[in-house]
Amino acid sequence: MSPATPDDLRFLGGYPTSTLDQVRDLIAQGKLGDYLARRYPERHAVRNDGALYDHAMALKQRYLRNAPLLAKVVYDNRLQIDQRALGTLTAVSRVQGGQLKAKREIRVAALFKDAPAEMLQMIVVHELAHLKVRDHDKAFYALCEHMLADYHQIEFDTRLYLTWRARAALEAAPAPPAIGDPNA
Ligand SMILES: [Zn+2]
Repeated sequence: MSPATPDDLRFLGGYPTSTLDQVRDLIAQGKLGDYLARRYPERHAVRNDGALYDHAMALKQRYLRNAPLLAKVVYDNRLQIDQRALGTLTAVSRVQGGQLKAKREIRVAALFKDAPAEMLQMIVVHELAHLKVRDHDKAFYALCEHMLADYHQIEFDTRLYLTWRARAALEAAPAPPAIGDPNA
């Protein structure tokens, strides 16, 4: 494999330089895919929106019984993972019977349909935690870890997974033709 470029590491913004150096080494040695396959050998079976809703509701029922209702949990192929939105929680407010009601929806980037089980769970846990805590603060991550013990490691590995996918897609594609001078 060719060495990592800064663009390859775009999913890993915010991690320490020493960590990024280790990632560069893994990439340079062509071992990133092996690392991920060894740690996450199993794909999940949550293949459609119905199964995803059930998956999220089971977690909510277990850990966040008193959190607000969820109207919808779906895969969304419009989420732009390059903007780091792996999932979203939105509340659409509307008037119903003279009252303002918020319909809460979780959307999960569609690429997680075909991903290791732990990574899908990490995204779902993250968005569920936002039902209770809005910001990414200590309380928020404590709640994430309560629902998924290895939360931080899995989030990091998910970013490695995105890195690996992006590189695999690039290497599979023919080199784009050079068009003009990019600096022109
Ligand atoms: Zn968040």
